[in-house]
Amino acid sequence: MEVWFPDLKTLFLPESLELAPEILSELLEQEKRNFYAKLEISDDKISFETFQDSSILDYYFGILEHYQGVHSDDTIRKIIEDFEPKYIDFWNEISYSQRYFEMLKICLKSWGLDLEETRIITKSIEWFEVRGIDLSQEKQTQLKNISKKLSELSQNFSNNVVDSKKEFEYNIEDESIISEMPDDDKQAAKDRAIKKNISWYLFDASQGAYMSIMKYCSDSQVRKHFYEFRHKVATTWKHDNSPIILEILKLRHEKAQLLGFNNYAELSLKFKMAESPEQVIELFSDISNKAQSKSKAELDEIRDYFDITDLQIWDLSYYANILRKKKYALDDRELKKYFEFEAVLQWMFEITKKLYGIEVKKIDQESYNQDVSIYEVYKDGTFISYFFTDYFYNELKRPGAWANILREKFEENKKITLNVCNFQKSENGQTLLTLSDVETMFHEFGHATHEMLSRSKYSELSGFHVEWDFVELPSQLLENWCRDSSGMRIFAKHIETWEWVPEEMFLKLEQLENFGSWEFVITQNTYAMMDMWLHSITPPSSVQELEDFVNKNYDDNASFVRGEVYSPHTSFTHIFDGWYAAGYYSYMWAEIIEKEVWKAFKDSWDIFSPEVAEKFHDMVLSAGTIKKASELFRDFFWRDVEISAFLSEKGLA
Ligand SMILES: [Zn+2]
Repeated sequence: MEVWFPDLKTLFLPESLELAPEILSELLEQEKRNFYAKLEISDDKISFETFQDSSILDYYFGILEHYQGVHSDDTIRKIIEDFEPKYIDFWNEISYSQRYFEMLKICLKSWGLDLEETRIITKSIEWFEVRGIDLSQEKQTQLKNISKKLSELSQNFSNNVVDSKKEFEYNIEDESIISEMPDDDKQAAKDRAIKKNISWYLFDASQGAYMSIMKYCSDSQVRKHFYEFRHKVATTWKHDNSPIILEILKLRHEKAQLLGFNNYAELSLKFKMAESPEQVIELFSDISNKAQSKSKAELDEIRDYFDITDLQIWDLSYYANILRKKKYALDDRELKKYFEFEAVLQWMFEITKKLYGIEVKKIDQESYNQDVSIYEVYKDGTFISYFFTDYFYNELKRPGAWANILREKFEENKKITLNVCNFQKSENGQTLLTLSDVETMFHEFGHATHEMLSRSKYSELSGFHVEWDFVELPSQLLENWCRDSSGMRIFAKHIETWEWVPEEMFLKLEQLENFGSWEFVITQNTYAMMDMWLHSITPPSSVQELEDFVNKNYDDNASFVRGEVYSPHTSFTHIFDGWYAAGYYSYMWAEIIEKEVWKAFKDSWDIFSPEVAEKFHDMVLSAGTIKKASELFRDFFWRDVEISAFLSEKGLA
């Protein structure tokens, strides 16, 4: 087969990048000309094909964006920053093009569209509709004004959080109270102090510093101080987010109603798997009740073990951490010796071969750095996609891990999926991964398989385009095979002794995973419920009303007595300056549905059950978004989402 993988090495040479701005401008002009020409097509000539042109601009810009992700130096950043606004402007022009919208509607009515084509056109029409294209000129203007105001308010919200956090710092002089803290964390606190020209250890309001204090600082009063600050961020007169929240909620509600929805939560769920705010609230209330009863037992265990009668919320992480270490002492350095990078990678490919019948073959092609590997992926002997990996940390790479598509269109075998991670590479050859690295590797490959295995010939219906509360299903699901003892038994061999992971270690890992799981579940749940309720009700009209609401939500869902200081909403950037408004539930939702599928494998007594794997492949994975996610789920289970599998996997049943 002819290799049709782009020569990324050449594309990213300085002399090539020098030409990038000009190429981008030309491609954009070309794209605009094509678009305006399309608008001139007469009604009787409109067909499905009218909307099916692959964009070289998207492809080229995607490649450059990838490079920015893995090698973010000034050159590439400037290229992207200069071009992006022009690109967005053009997109906005398209999304308010009345003629284009009309054309889509004509196409939908035309004769002979098959199911997939109908779904693609319907989805496009809906996308235009929620942007308000169908509204009167007056209402459109209103909508645009709301959007503008909302983006200003969100920006102010975030600024207040940042500025408010900046005002916090805490100097610890008594080293004995942080003696249990890991050296890295202490060093970070020391570095902070040096920067400010003071002695001792300086802690700020960053997530890392906060977690470190809550887990390792032995002084309860210090923990209390941090906890209380954390729960009053952006509440002072100087940086007060409460009035901003009231305004945001009001405007979102107005926006939803302009677009014909009862409230903002309904608008948000329009493109998600969850069918209504009520469905989410009902399932999450059940989880909340179960987690609360589990919490009582574990809290009692902590009180008994340390003989504390008055356990406060800021004491919890500290004592839980000590207990966890005492009960399940697990040597992370020893565990790593079972996860040699190359071996784990080969076994991951082996596992997905067993499950989905895909074969991954490395090809010999140079790329932009030595750590990049390029593969061809086959299913039942047929090429389905290129897959390339850029697994190791370098200082110019964006933190985290992700899966992406470089080229979507199927024709001529050109699809490219990729995984990027930030694993620490060993200098002396053999790289050992932590269990969490292994999970990340499986997770991202799960995303990649969702895309590679999509059977529709249209990229609009592939795995990466599903509802976003459904998109984590294949990735989180695949993680189970590296964590489950029968999965881990296949690949995890000690690098020196060649022994399997001992039974006792498995047991500890399993118990460790569920220890304190209720705390995480309750916290996530309380946030998710606050978010969903706030966007479902008539917006509160005063700060007092808002506070009463937030407090009641805590009392209904949490298991600890609320502290005097409690204001989590004023720093909740996920929903007030982010994409998660009436969508915070999706983190846990993804886990709920993933545990359901995993349970189907476990119930068959074989985590490689060919029947279950085939059913999952055919009905969910390869279906991409040919149907709505809720329908795919029903095809697989013959029922709606339930929480029993989630509860039992989390040890909360
Ligand atoms: Zn993911």
